[in-house]
Parts: sequence; structure tokens; C-alpha cells
Amino acid sequence: MTEITPRTRLLGLIGSPVNHSLSPVMYNSAFQACGLDMCYVSFDVGPGDLEAAVKGMAALGFIGFNVTHPYKESVIPYLDSLEEDASLIGAVNTVVITKGRTRGYNTDGRGLVESLRAEGIRCSGKSVLILGAGGAAKAVAVALAGEKVERIVVANRNFDRAKHLRDIVSDMGVKSDAVSTDILNWENELQDIELIVNATPCGMYPLEDRKPLNLKDFEPAVVCDLVYEPRNTLLLQEAVRYGHTPVSGLGMLLYQGAEAFRLFTSQEPPIEAMGNALGVGLCQRL
Ligand code: NAP
Repeated sequence: MTEITPRTRLLGLIGSPVNHSLSPVMYNSAFQACGLDMCYVSFDVGPGDLEAAVKGMAALGFIGFNVTHPYKESVIPYLDSLEEDASLIGAVNTVVITKGRTRGYNTDGRGLVESLRAEGIRCSGKSVLILGAGGAAKAVAVALAGEKVERIVVANRNFDRAKHLRDIVSDMGVKSDAVSTDILNWENELQDIELIVNATPCGMYPLEDRKPLNLKDFEPAVVCDLVYEPRNTLLLQEAVRYGHTPVSGLGMLLYQGAEAFRLFTSQEPPIEAMGNALGVGLCQRL
């Protein structure tokens, strides 16, 4: 990292826990590659301190920050304004501070679309299955609906949340269905799915032995696991075994960060440097 001086501009990450986050290494590598006098630090913020943390960053002259689990939704009341997609999704992962005013954005969905595009995978016209209906699922569904996919099926444990996300997608003019994953062999009812996105924590520590669905009977599809720790999740291993196209969520992490870099700096992101910092290079397929 370059020397920190009184002129160094600060950015940060708030969440809890944040000690394993890859964001500091990704952004600091980007700043270094672009010769920007900026420094990115992570902060483990307790639930009672969220408002003070947001106000403190604005007061201390930070130019922006990222928000991660569990504050992507609860941070919203403490922000001055929201960009349209963040408002629709109801979650924020990037905050830009201009003259002390905070504006929330959500770059997660764009990150997924760009990571697929980098792999030569187009989303338009595809029938999509999204597993989960939480913050990441909503961000992905809204971005994919904006890409004019053919259809989105939302599958979730909590059926009410699945139906809520189905309605958001339908209101955007895209055909959508909701499915409860509590029903035995629920995936047997699905046909013609071309893109599957896991937006649940199944496969991630401490659920690393869990798969979010059984891929065996699906026609060959693109299978993207938003879980990237471990990198080669059970779902991606099964995708390879059954002839699907596996795509790691590390690419989404990279491209949502690239989009946030653009918002923070108004410069084009150094994708290669950021990818190298994450250990993905330009290719995230396993
Ligand atoms: P969230 O808002 O808490 O939503 C979690 C979703 O997963 C909910 O739909 C929940 O279902 C479902 N779920 C939770 N535990 C489950 C289980 N044991 N079995 C089946 N379903 C389960 O979380 P999120 O922010 O959307 O994050 C979801 C995943 O995406 C996490 O693994 C996160 O690390 C990953 N992610 C990756 C990136 C990236 O850049 N690659 C970005 C954002 C998130 P219910 O509604 O029924 O509770």
C-alpha cells in the first residue's frame, strides 16, 4: 500500500463480522493500480452503533463505504437518499458521500450480470431459477429483469418472501413464478431452466455440506453459486458432474466492486488488478 498522508481519502466497509472480507485487498489493489491516494478499511460495527457509524463516516470526510451482512437493509433509514434500484430492492451495498450527504446504491445485481457477460454468457431471453428471496436474490432478480430475461422462478423456504419477489419481477414486466422449497422434490416440477442462481447461504460455512437443490435431473444450464467461500462449492462440483456450466460467485464479488469503484471515484475500474487481488484473474469459471 502507498504511504498514508493527511491528503489520503478514506473508504470503508461496515458489517459484522468483517474479518474475512476480501473487499479491503480488492479496493486497495485497485487504488494502487490507478495511483489514487485512497485507503479502504473494514469496520466491525455492533447493531446499536449503525447510525453512529454512518454519521461518523460522513463527519470524518469518508468519500464512501460499502455495507455488508447484516446491515444492507437496516442502513437505509440512516441515508439521505437512495438510487432507484436500491429503493426497489430495499437493500444497499454501496454508499457515496458527497459534501456530507449519503446516497445508497445496490451494485450486487449489476455485478452478477457483468460477471456472466465476462464469461460470454448473455442473460436476455433466458429462463432463470433464483434460489432464495433475500437481499442478494432481490438484487439479482431486479438486474436480470432489467436484462429482459424470458422468465424468473423464485424458489424459497419462506413462500411469502418468494411471492413478494415474484411480484416485484412481474411489476417489471417479466413472467415470474414462486415455488416453495419446503415441498419434497420441488425441483422436479421445473422445466426449460437455462440459468440457475444460488442466492442462499447453502454451501457456505457452516452450511458447506448443504446443496440448495438437486441438479441431477435438470437440462444443461448455467449454474452460478453466489457463495464463493469455499470457492468450489458442492453445488458447483455437482454442476460439473452433471454437465452444467459452473460459474463462481467470486466474479459477482469482483464486478459489484468494480461498479462501486466507478461510483466512488468516477473512474473506470482496473478489473485485472482487482481480479488478481481476489485470485480470479479475468476468468471465474472453475
Ligand atoms: P439474506 O438476505 O439473509 O437471504 C438469505 C436467503 O437464503 C433467504 O431467502 C433464506 O430463506 C435463504 N436461506 C437461508 N438459510 C437457508 C437454508 N439453510 N436453507 C435454504 N435456504 C436458506 O442473505 P443475502 O444477503 O441475500 O445472501 C445470500 C447469499 O449470497 C450468502 O451466501 C451471501 O454470502 C451471498 N452473496 C454473495 C455475493 C457475491 O458478491 N458473490 C453478494 C451478496 C451475497 P428464508 O427467506 O426462507 O429465510
